[in-house]
Amino acid sequence: MIDNKEILEWMPVQKTVWDVVEYVWTIFSRALERGASDIHIEPTEFFLLVRFRQDWDFFIIDKLDRENISPIITRLKVLSKVKIDENKKPQDWKIVYYYSKENKNIDIRVSTLPTAFWEKVVMRILKPDATLTCIERLWFIDVNLEKVREALKSSYWIILVAWPTWSWKSTTLFWVLKNYNPLEYNISTLEDPIEYNIEYVNQSQVKPEIGFTFSTWLRSLVRQDPDIIMVWEIRDKETATLAVEAALTWHLVLSTIHTNSATATVQRLINMGVETFLLASAMRMVISQRLLKKMCQNCKKPKDVNPEVLKKVRDFLYPIMDKAEVDNLVFYEWEWCEKCHNTWFKWRLWVHEVLIVWSYLEDLILKKASANEMAELAKKHWMVTILQDALIKAAMWLTTVDQAIQLI
Ligand SMILES: [Zn+2]
Repeated sequence: MIDNKEILEWMPVQKTVWDVVEYVWTIFSRALERGASDIHIEPTEFFLLVRFRQDWDFFIIDKLDRENISPIITRLKVLSKVKIDENKKPQDWKIVYYYSKENKNIDIRVSTLPTAFWEKVVMRILKPDATLTCIERLWFIDVNLEKVREALKSSYWIILVAWPTWSWKSTTLFWVLKNYNPLEYNISTLEDPIEYNIEYVNQSQVKPEIGFTFSTWLRSLVRQDPDIIMVWEIRDKETATLAVEAALTWHLVLSTIHTNSATATVQRLINMGVETFLLASAMRMVISQRLLKKMCQNCKKPKDVNPEVLKKVRDFLYPIMDKAEVDNLVFYEWEWCEKCHNTWFKWRLWVHEVLIVWSYLEDLILKKASANEMAELAKKHWMVTILQDALIKAAMWLTTVDQAIQLI
């Protein structure tokens, strides 16, 4: 892999940027061309560092003289119409950038934070709405996709789990929302922050400083005649209880929670103090997801997996696949190629664990069983674990065994 420290040492400091307006546009278009997800503009003691995050890794783009800091940051503030003279407090805003190559507007979320050497600016490129509808990008295997589709037909409580934050939970949440026509349903969301605007969906933004929180919103929402409710995140008992109540009164409730597996989510809610009998009847599905690096399809080649690892891999796959099939699996790895854009992987790949909460789990929920106990029972009811899902995807040459076994 690329050694950023070496690159940084070798890279000369660029003097004054000739045209700041032009420079900022170029940064945006370069980021979009490469498929970067974030742009970091970082003032350091001796220079201004410009980095892109792309497929998890950082790439150094520019090393500019410190005299460029003020003009560049001011230019960004002008673009987003925020207070130019405010540099002591963090600010958040959005820039709409017209990407001429694809003839469309791209939303860029901007955040500034004062640091020891000036304000640091981080910009997240929000992928246009169209990419959200593409199911392939979510990478559900057929058996899970079927479960998800079935569960979405019901009015219950559905929870999505993302761990870590990098798992891009919002993409999945919005994909779920896209299954419903907002003109046929009353859809309300409370987000933090609002990333994508969706036509005819009532989106609100959390404002804890004025007391507008998840729980106050949920309480007012019942008087808004909603069908589908999306709560960005469940962090406390109050929000959890209100969400359960909403689900029990025939609303489809979507939300996320920070845990590390599907069954741990159920346990977490029990620990938060949600009544188990309510939980057992209100909950329908938990999707746990993670992101792995996707294999470059251009330079992949067969790989001999270490026999010990291979044995483990097979043991994980036997319960869900035909034995002969498992024994004949071939795995791949990748090489460096032009198409990888200087990174060994081209894109990310989701792996999932879909837990259907149904009558079989009720007893365990009622007696507050551990996440492990629930997982063991769920596996008997055909839950594919996140590790198994990752290994299936390795067997499909979408990712590598090394990536998958990180999840053990
Ligand atoms: Zn490649």
